[in-house]
Amino acid sequence: MSFYETIKEIPKKMKAVVAYAPGDYKLEEINVPNIGDEEILLKVSGCGVCAGDVKAYHGAPSLWGGNGQPSWIKPPFIPGHEFYGKVVAIGANAKNKYKLSLGDWAVSEQIVPCGKCGFCLEGNYWMCEIHNIFGFQGKVADGAFAEYIKLPKTARNYKLPEGFPLKVAPYVEPLGCAIHAIERAEIQFYDVVVIAGLGALGLGMVQAARLKNPKMLIAIDIKEKRLNLAKEYGAHIIINPKEEDAVLKVKELTNGYGCDVYVQASGHPNGTIQGLQMIRKLGRYIEFSVYNDQVTVDWSIIGDRKELDIRGAHLSPRSYESAIRFLSDGSIKANDIITHELPLEKYKEAFHLVEKGEESIKVVLIP
Ligand SMILES: [Zn+2]
Ligand SMILES: [Zn+2]
Repeated sequence: MSFYETIKEIPKKMKAVVAYAPGDYKLEEINVPNIGDEEILLKVSGCGVCAGDVKAYHGAPSLWGGNGQPSWIKPPFIPGHEFYGKVVAIGANAKNKYKLSLGDWAVSEQIVPCGKCGFCLEGNYWMCEIHNIFGFQGKVADGAFAEYIKLPKTARNYKLPEGFPLKVAPYVEPLGCAIHAIERAEIQFYDVVVIAGLGALGLGMVQAARLKNPKMLIAIDIKEKRLNLAKEYGAHIIINPKEEDAVLKVKELTNGYGCDVYVQASGHPNGTIQGLQMIRKLGRYIEFSVYNDQVTVDWSIIGDRKELDIRGAHLSPRSYESAIRFLSDGSIKANDIITHELPLEKYKEAFHLVEKGEESIKVVLIP
């Protein structure tokens, strides 16, 4: 027997996108999840489509297994981890734990930590060994390409404050990841910082890096529209490697030394190669990208020639509060990053828009 509060009008059935296998996704009528006394039910108002969702749709071996990699995805599952919604049912214990009430707007971190593994126990929950993430494992972490989503008891939930600009709420998750990458860079006032790759993440990184007020902030991408947005968001210099030699330009701007910090968010092998070339000795290289293929670089640059600090960045630990604060007070903007809102039924069109990335930056599905 569990104790929870609920609004009256929760239906029994809901629309949801259910993923069975690569390319085999269906819009279905399924049961609205039941919740226990440590859980929450959100009525989903919007959910962003991540590049990872599209990779899953196309059957990436790093997700589904194959090519010597284990399967991490658990079908059938409902995709979607960049969501926000209204609390429509809440367990008695969840109320106290999250300071949430019926009718509140809420978001949740993408990871649903197990709470029991070595990483969870030492507080490094975003490295959870089990690593369930909303929208990739059926039952334990079903996502929000649906009308309702259950937040399991170990989910990390946050209330959106009064007056929060809800249109940009699906951007809290990507911005959290962007902020974490920038925190990893430990930017100093005298640093020259390069952000490579200006997708939804990179444009968040530009804005987060700007808040650290470095000496020079340089943004690199091959798309003019994104470069112009980066400029608007505070980049001092924008570089299009299709039009000029990015390595040469950064060296010129730094008396031949190179940048202090290089953040690789382009997902393209060229971004890695160029980064190792344009970073100065003793620089900090932040790797955020997820690549489709293996990358080959001159590994001796890292030790023998430059003694670099190579730091990975994954997910958004201790970043949600900042993401919510910056979007609330307007110090980070996302209105021009969320370029498309589509009804849930058009999820395939949304995947296609994300994949092309021509006119879209962040595409949001509205159930
Ligand atoms: Zn994402
Ligand atoms: Zn764990």
